[in-house]
Amino acid sequence: MTVSFIALGSNLAEPIGQIRTAFEQLHEWPGIVVQGCSSLYRTSPVGYCDQPDFINACAQIETGLSPHDLLDALQRIEQIHGRERGILNGPRTLDLDILLYGDRILADERLTIPHPRMHERAFVLVPLADMDMGILIPGHGYVAQLLEKVDQSGVERIKGT
Ligand code: AMP
Repeated sequence: MTVSFIALGSNLAEPIGQIRTAFEQLHEWPGIVVQGCSSLYRTSPVGYCDQPDFINACAQIETGLSPHDLLDALQRIEQIHGRERGILNGPRTLDLDILLYGDRILADERLTIPHPRMHERAFVLVPLADMDMGILIPGHGYVAQLLEKVDQSGVERIKGT
């Protein structure tokens, strides 16, 4: 079993509901146990800005799935949510990314772990820090240190989550 961290994001079709359902689907998926969920955050779009705000969150899971089987599971869950691939960084009903998979470093044509942009994205680091400020991102440093370097102004915690 390996501890892995997953990023969740949505900005279409009742995003808060999409994220909550995705937490449940992850937990119910064979080979995945959700150990913790961050608060939900309303975040300003990055890159392609002409779209609604996102809801972002992170989950800590424990899994017996290999990294590629885990990616298959995440993509199946995205499909269940009606995910269509369109504009890069554009609107989506649900986006699930593998941030970390134990201390594994991996890069092939399908999968890069740690996720290549996680260390510079406030909408990833802020929810990740909810679970553990001491998470080490191999090759980049600790979440607590990386958080100090990013602009957190577009990331707002949703009260009561
Ligand atoms: P996106 O449009 O952001 O969902 O990007 C998904 C694509 O990124 C898929 O084709 C994956 O094969 C690829 N990918 C590479 N690394 C990762 C990762 N760590 N987590 C999720 N998808 C990844």
